[in-house]
Amino acid sequence: MNPTTPTDATAAATPESRGHFIYQFIAEDVAAGRNGGQVVTRFPPEPNGFLHIGHAKAICIDFGMAEAFNGRCHLRMDDTNPAKEDESYVRAIKEDVRWLGFDWGEHFYYAADMFEQMHDLAVALIKSGHAYVCDLSQEEWKEYRGIPTEPGIESPYRKRGVEENLDLFARMRAGEFEEGSRCLRARIDMTSPNIHFRDPVLYRIMKQSHYRTGDQWQIYPTYDFAHPIEDALEGVTHSLCTLEFEVHRPLYDWVIDRMQELGMLVVRDGHTIRPQQREFARLSLDYTVMSKRKLLQLVQDQLVEGWDDPRMPTISGLRRRGYPAAAIRDFCDRIGVSKYKSSTELALLESCVRDHLNRTAQRRMAVIDPLRLVIDNYPADAEEWFDAVNNHEDPEADTRKVPFSRELWIEREDFMEFPDKKFFRLAPGREVRLRYACLFTCTSVEHDDEGRVVAVHGTYDPESRGGNAPDGRRVRGTIHWVSIRHAQPLETRLYDRLFTVPDPEADESRHFTEFLNPDSLRCVNAWGEPSLTELLPGETVQFERLAYFCADLRLSRPGQPVMNRTVTLKEARGKN
Ligand code: ATP
Ligand code: MG
Repeated sequence: MNPTTPTDATAAATPESRGHFIYQFIAEDVAAGRNGGQVVTRFPPEPNGFLHIGHAKAICIDFGMAEAFNGRCHLRMDDTNPAKEDESYVRAIKEDVRWLGFDWGEHFYYAADMFEQMHDLAVALIKSGHAYVCDLSQEEWKEYRGIPTEPGIESPYRKRGVEENLDLFARMRAGEFEEGSRCLRARIDMTSPNIHFRDPVLYRIMKQSHYRTGDQWQIYPTYDFAHPIEDALEGVTHSLCTLEFEVHRPLYDWVIDRMQELGMLVVRDGHTIRPQQREFARLSLDYTVMSKRKLLQLVQDQLVEGWDDPRMPTISGLRRRGYPAAAIRDFCDRIGVSKYKSSTELALLESCVRDHLNRTAQRRMAVIDPLRLVIDNYPADAEEWFDAVNNHEDPEADTRKVPFSRELWIEREDFMEFPDKKFFRLAPGREVRLRYACLFTCTSVEHDDEGRVVAVHGTYDPESRGGNAPDGRRVRGTIHWVSIRHAQPLETRLYDRLFTVPDPEADESRHFTEFLNPDSLRCVNAWGEPSLTELLPGETVQFERLAYFCADLRLSRPGQPVMNRTVTLKEARGKN
């Protein structure tokens, strides 16, 4: 299904999305004809970092709900804070949302393009007595605001006259005052049990260049003031966000009320669009951190190789790692939407990835920890090409030819000189199947001076070409192999969890970077069948019996893929 094509609401919604409370909430609005039944959502990232898997959840909800109700979803850069925003993040965000499979059409917006209207609303609020310039310092302001169980104290500047407020606000804008010396506050209610209602700050002085508006502004709106304005000016009907904003909702509505009084709400198809905010629990995954600030620190301190390091929980990192977009969407669907805070197991994400790759990834043979196998009764200069099935799960995937010769690499762990009872693979005197090729019996073992096994010798049954015994005799083990003469060297990167503990942020007395897993990346030279040189960057295959691997998007060269281990074939403790 192409998630960008509007489809019938019930057809588009999965059983999960049909049931969840956000869906119900929107469905009731539509049924009641609110906003003329229109549904417009938005995904509003701040361009101060790359998107992560938590954002993927929000993206799937925002775009998913729009699609389910034949509406549309906007992509908006929520860039009202000049400090850490940058155009390069804007590009990365667009790329990631598109890659996830969503399309905002022409509805791409920058909050910074609305600065003038935000300012106009602030001036209007001053004129109507709803806002005032306050000279309290930040510490004093916090102290006056108080705690929820006791009323706050009114600022001594609260009774300033309109003219003085207008003059001071204009001078704030002109850059006459120092940062922190003054701010613009809403005049609401200092006794409200909701402390966000106690004359919240609307504008603060920030003498910083903005990546889009340059030095045009010396004052910047707060999130609480800017966000409802952005939603309203874009004609958003349902503003979906994470739970921490729930306590801000009355303030959101307050701003929308003021805009409505001033006739600032959008009228579309004859209906005045009044946005509403609803909140859902954020995604947190174990064995990783999700805040952009912390991810930025990993990047800046070079603890990872960049935002798109395949160990990062960023969309671009997961993409490089080889996670299919469809698997990420499936994961977001499976975790569902609720109001309960919880941590999701990485194992669930990995199992979604496995499900998809099992169906889509072609199989190849490669050996990661090589041991030499010599077929003593096979002519030294002969070679044969056997048919190997590309994907048993996909009838259309067809077969390929794999070269075979006298000397092969096999996986060291597929051989045991002194096998225990549960070991059914290769051992002296034992017969195994060399996958797609033939049956092979081990007759002797070569050791080096330290007694380490360096080669396995034996004979093959010439009647078993293709891997089946002519007399139907049973062999218990099947192993993979790569012809040494034809083998291609492959740089493989074996990833493990980025952190050693499920919640690296749990212990406040320790810094989260103390829990970084020193073995999260292991680079290993492997040998692969020749067809692997044809892999294009971004293509994923299954190395038979080992794991799924993806040709790295950055490091691969033509004919020389660098292989990232995407995910192992089975869930294993401590590995991924
Ligand atoms: P972070 O806390 O990681 O720095 P943020 O909330 O500051 O993220 P924004 O760019 O403001 O990042 O997020 C854009 C949207 O994505 C917001 O609507 C936010 O609610 C949502 N979002 C952010 N993190 C998560 C998460 N972990 N799970 C679900 N939604 C999220
Ligand atoms: Mg934020």
